Amino acid sequence: LPQFAFAGRSNVGKSSVINRLVGRKNLAYVGASPGKTTHINYFLIDQKAYLVDLPGYGYAKVSRSEKERWARLMETYFQREADAITTGVLIVDIRHKPTANDLVMHDWFRQTGCPEIVVANKLDKLKKSQVEPALELIQETLELTERDILIPFSAEKGSGKDELLRLLVDACRG
Ligand code: GDP
Repeated sequence: LPQFAFAGRSNVGKSSVINRLVGRKNLAYVGASPGKTTHINYFLIDQKAYLVDLPGYGYAKVSRSEKERWARLMETYFQREADAITTGVLIVDIRHKPTANDLVMHDWFRQTGCPEIVVANKLDKLKKSQVEPALELIQETLELTERDILIPFSAEKGSGKDELLRLLVDACRG
């Protein structure tokens, strides 16, 4: 089955984006590896695709050992699942320059040859005139080209939802 891996730093709105896309009630919980803040949730959607909720990162109050656990978990995930990931969805905050950890995630998707969609969430927090420069900063920092996909998104308002869903459905068709 197609597998969509969602990644992003803590508090970026990853859960909100996922809920906006599929709605919790449509999510079937199929398993997780143990851990406190560091676990991976797999959801089976309509028996058609897996949505993989990767653990959020970059939370300042997380201990060093917890951070190391996160890194090990992600390394293992990418080693085992690289070929199985249909699309990686990297969620960043449209208001901020992508962080060092965002870059690590982005490089993981790239290095494993995994198609990636970058979602710039919290669009509703910006004024219209701020959107274009914000998107440019994200593009520059992640070194995105015209072929890369960057979607301004608001989990709060629903903007970008149809576009993201369409891209994921297209990815299912291959
Ligand atoms: P996660 O830690 O990445 O899963 O983040 P959450 O989904 O829990 O969201 C973190 C906070 O950001 C919550 O207070 C959300 O209500 C808020 N949030 C998430 N997405 C948006 C958005 O698009 N717009 C606004 N204004 N707030 C958002």
